[in-house]
Amino acid sequence: MKAIAAALLLFIAMTAQAKPIAIVIHGGAGRIDRDALTPERERQYHATLEQSLRAGHAILARGGSALDAVEAAIVVMEDAPVFNAGKGAVFTAEGKNELDASIMDGSGLQAGAVGGVTTVKNPIRAARAVMEKSPHVLFTNRGAEKFASDNGLEMVDPKYFITERRWKQIQAWLKQQEAKDKPRAAAEPDRHADYFGTVGCVALDANGNLAAGTSTGGMTGKRFGRIGDSPIIGAGTYADNRTAGISCTGHGEYFIRHAVAHDISARMAYKKESLAKAARDVVQTVLKQAGGSGGVISIDALGNIVMEFNTPAMTRGSIDRDGKTKTAIFK
Ligand code: ASP
Repeated sequence: MKAIAAALLLFIAMTAQAKPIAIVIHGGAGRIDRDALTPERERQYHATLEQSLRAGHAILARGGSALDAVEAAIVVMEDAPVFNAGKGAVFTAEGKNELDASIMDGSGLQAGAVGGVTTVKNPIRAARAVMEKSPHVLFTNRGAEKFASDNGLEMVDPKYFITERRWKQIQAWLKQQEAKDKPRAAAEPDRHADYFGTVGCVALDANGNLAAGTSTGGMTGKRFGRIGDSPIIGAGTYADNRTAGISCTGHGEYFIRHAVAHDISARMAYKKESLAKAARDVVQTVLKQAGGSGGVISIDALGNIVMEFNTPAMTRGSIDRDGKTKTAIFK
């Protein structure tokens, strides 16, 4: 009897151990000048990535949910002024910070998102509240803000999001537009220099559930009211336990047109492709041919991690199923 009990315990321990947990994050894809990147800024990127990974991984390691891990990891990056999400978000052409975020639960395809919010301290928490506390998926502007505040989330004065660095960027962008003598209406939002910094996270928990989330200030110089791919389920974020969790960053209009996050999941589901192949084909072929710059982070149901980008840099980090941690900026 004792022997059977011991064998059973061993079996349970082994199967428990075989359940992988993993987490991957990004802090935006783009072109960042190696020379313009001061050692101090580089250190801040790595330190914040590390802190974000640890926050998420600690939850997974104690048996917590992928959703909780994604939210916790993204909150760290939203609160850090180095990234273009929450505090430190880029400015619209009108000099405002308008934030977008979304989250998705791969266990049942539940999702929530907010677009164009200006007073919610952590948009990712608002996205999660939309998913869990409303029958809807996407709220925008004042409706999203009222919903967040009704649900007890921390609200801030819009000034909270302002940083000097992003202010200087929008001033430089406005000057550039003037020099080009382009009418404002035709101006393209900027994908160049170090204007990147959208954040995202994908996690796999010990119950085999995948979750993904993305949070951003959008693109420098975007028009008032413009919403990018980050809060669009299927474009900037997607999660399905049967395929993968995906969070994107890049020129949002291309990610929306090509339904990038869902396309990767669909290729896995219908064509039985591996995550690595599906992500590579979408980012390096489909997007690139269309002229869309950016990248994706992803984890599949087995805990395989993919970080694919067609830009010179993507701030990123992961803790894989063997517990190995890494953070990187350049290719
Ligand atoms: N995808 C974001 C947007 O278009 C920007 C980014 O990822 O850098 O709003």
